[in-house]
Amino acid sequence: MIQNTAETEYGTKAENGKIMYFGSVKFFKHLIYTVVIGWFVIATGLAVFFGVKYSLEHKENEALIASANVSSEEKPSDGEEAEHEKSSLEQHYLRMSAQGYTPEDILDFLEENESEAVSGFVDGYISANPDKIEALLPKDAAETEAGTNANEYTGLYPELYVTPPTEYTIKEKTIYLTFDDGPSENTVDILNILDKYGIKATFFMSGGDDERTAELIRMVAEKGHKIGIHSKSHEYNEVYSSVEAFLEDMSNTYNCIYSASGVEPDIIRFPGGSINNYNRLIYNQLIAEVTRRGFVYYDWNVSGQDASNNATWTSIYRNILNGIESNDTQRAIILLHDGEGRETTVTTVEDIIIALIDKGYTFEALDNTVRPINFSYTE
Ligand code: ZN
Repeated sequence: MIQNTAETEYGTKAENGKIMYFGSVKFFKHLIYTVVIGWFVIATGLAVFFGVKYSLEHKENEALIASANVSSEEKPSDGEEAEHEKSSLEQHYLRMSAQGYTPEDILDFLEENESEAVSGFVDGYISANPDKIEALLPKDAAETEAGTNANEYTGLYPELYVTPPTEYTIKEKTIYLTFDDGPSENTVDILNILDKYGIKATFFMSGGDDERTAELIRMVAEKGHKIGIHSKSHEYNEVYSSVEAFLEDMSNTYNCIYSASGVEPDIIRFPGGSINNYNRLIYNQLIAEVTRRGFVYYDWNVSGQDASNNATWTSIYRNILNGIESNDTQRAIILLHDGEGRETTVTTVEDIIIALIDKGYTFEALDNTVRPINFSYTE
């Protein structure tokens, strides 16, 4: 017997033999498929659209930051890979330059990234490629650098000249403790500790115009420690805005020390060290000018990293002891700070001295005949 209608999997067969599609099981299955597939298509489309948009906007930054981060943070074991990453960052640097970015723009860009890797790369890049950096310098600056004894700064601060050393000496197994950013009340505590062990050290001073600062400067001088120039204002942006601005601050610091103590300082520590994020476009000129005036500048090969706000007794102590341990030359210029807020340094200094005496080191103050340790070359 033939049925007029039949239920099938896909719908109801009508009397005329046609399958009723709408409202059938098949219809609902297709509806679900359509909704699910449609949702995927729309989501994927949106993701691609915004991805491309974001990528276009951030292409430059991403590539530069990525290559910088990979090169230091992931520390590829393969030396070639590290070299590749480094040269890729170099290419970014040079490409931005070729695209018409000024050196200032490039460096501003690099500084905006607080990535240690970027900063580390730039420092390394600058010392490894002085010729390329010179090519990036404004033309008149590059010419000045190659200049002779007389230059456009000769007429500035005619009193700011000292007699340079005729030769340098190197003493092995010697520690030069240096304290930057003082004087402050912490200086008094440090002087007492140094007295206790009969040690002479070096103070690269900042300083203010008040009578207490003058008194502290005198105290350091009377105890026979070496006083050097650091920076009176210690405002990196201002001090490194030009060679003229640097000389003005240097002259102010010199006068501050001289009028307080009668000492004529002949050594200097550049704020932030001789090569840093603030002076990279003019550091060559600054070094040339300071040296032309007879001053000797000192960086350091061991740092307590005590100017960091999260420095602790343990971190300072370890930084110095580990730094000395890995110091091949057996001679160390140690960076510490005696400015305001550096109480942790005070609590660490005595233990550092005891540990280093125990290791057989002698402590001395710098003078301008001690061969400098500078970032621009290694011993
Ligand atoms: Zn400083």
